[in-house]
This record gives sequence, structure tokens and C-alpha cells, in this order.
Amino acid sequence: MNKLVAGNWKMHGLSSDLAEIKAIDDASRRYPSVDVALCVPAILIERASRAVPNFAIGGQDVHYADKGAHTGCVSAAMLVDAGAVLTIVGHSERREAQRETDAEVKAKAEAALSASLRVILCVGESLEVREAGGAVETVLAQLAASLPDHADAARLAIAYEPVWAIGTGKVPTNDEIEEMHAALRRRLIAAYGDAGRGVRILYGGSVKASNAAEIFAVPEVDGALVGGASLKAADFMPIVAAAAVGG
Ligand code: PEP
Repeated sequence: MNKLVAGNWKMHGLSSDLAEIKAIDDASRRYPSVDVALCVPAILIERASRAVPNFAIGGQDVHYADKGAHTGCVSAAMLVDAGAVLTIVGHSERREAQRETDAEVKAKAEAALSASLRVILCVGESLEVREAGGAVETVLAQLAASLPDHADAARLAIAYEPVWAIGTGKVPTNDEIEEMHAALRRRLIAAYGDAGRGVRILYGGSVKASNAAEIFAVPEVDGALVGGASLKAADFMPIVAAAAVGG
């Protein structure tokens, strides 16, 4: 199974950044054993996918409905129409700021999979939960409630993103990552049977060039979801290179 290294550009990216996306596309060709993707703002998807037609461009969210009175939202068919091949769902910034529930995240994942998109479904605990010793239990409950009932394992990835590690420079210990990823793997196998072994489990939260190799060496880490360090090819490509070595 190739490692997946996906960048989450969040609310960053203008036409002037298409050159950076092209640079990442060009450099990624040197690492055919790694699946590389960039999830960009919805409004940039079409321009990005035209600029790099053979590279995986994705969205950062999707609505669960096909169409309708949902001002400001984007459907799975719209993402596909714009050229996206994947989307993130359930990022903690949306779970928190937009108060997205597990049930909504599940519906979004199912809508995206039905539209043939690949899905990166995010789960992760707060610092309070981690410090209280409830991280694994909380994340497994989140996963159970947001996991699509049926999924083509090859098109689904789970991103374990401790909320306290996103954009903070803090990273869990390797043992903490290993414990969580092993628990997620067991839960995926319980949900999907043997196919659950084919769902990639990504780590996300302050991944950068200096810690990527160590993180990719942890068992059951099948890639990374990268925020800040995905905005520039110079920061992102060493992470992709580390995935190629670790793969
Ligand atoms: C993210 O937003 O998904 C993320 C992991 O951000 P960062 O890499 O900046 O911590």
C-alpha cells in the first residue's frame, strides 16, 4: 500500500499560488511510490486541477446533500465537476467552528464516496481528553459514529489528528501514535472485515521535514495529513521524500 501524503491548505491559496502547486506536482513525480495530494480552497480547485491535470487535487469539506438550499456549501458532484478527486471530511477546525457532528461527518463521507471521490476522514482528541487518559476511547467513539457504513477501503483514509497537535508544533510520542493507530486499525477491521486492513491511517498534526521520517516509521502510519508545511514545495517535498523511504 503506497503511503498517502496530503496537504491541507486550509484558507490559503490564490491564483498566484498555482506556481507552488505546479512545483509540488513536478517534484512529486520523483516519488511514484507515494500518493501525493493537495486539498485546496473550493474556489481554487478548478484552476488547480487544470494547472496540474495528473495530480490529485481535493476539497477540504463537502455537503452531504446532492443539491438544495444550503447557502455557501459545495456538493460532492460540484467537487467532482471542478476536478477534485478527493476531499477531507470532519477536520477538527470544522467540527469545532462549524459544530459539525459525527453524524454529519458520516453523511458527508458517504456522499463523497458515492460521488467516486476519495475521502480523508479526520478524528482526534482534545488536550483535556488526552490529559485525562481518555484519548483512545474518545477517538474510537468518534470513528465509530463517523465511519461510513460501507466503503471501498482503497478510497477511504482515516487521519488521526490530535487537536492539540494541529498548528502547535507539539506532536504525540511515537508510542502514543502507535497505540492510537493500532486501535483504529482494529476498529476498521471490526467494521469492514479484512478490507479494513486496506484503509490508510494517516497521522496529522505538526508534521514537518524534521519529524516526518520518525513518524512514518511508526507501525500502522500509512501517511500524513499536513497543514502548514504543505504550503511550499520546499517544506512539503522533504515530507514526501521521507514517505518514499519509509514506504
Ligand atoms: C491540519 O490542519 O490538518 C494539520 C495537520 O495542520 P498542521 O500540519 O499545520 O499541524
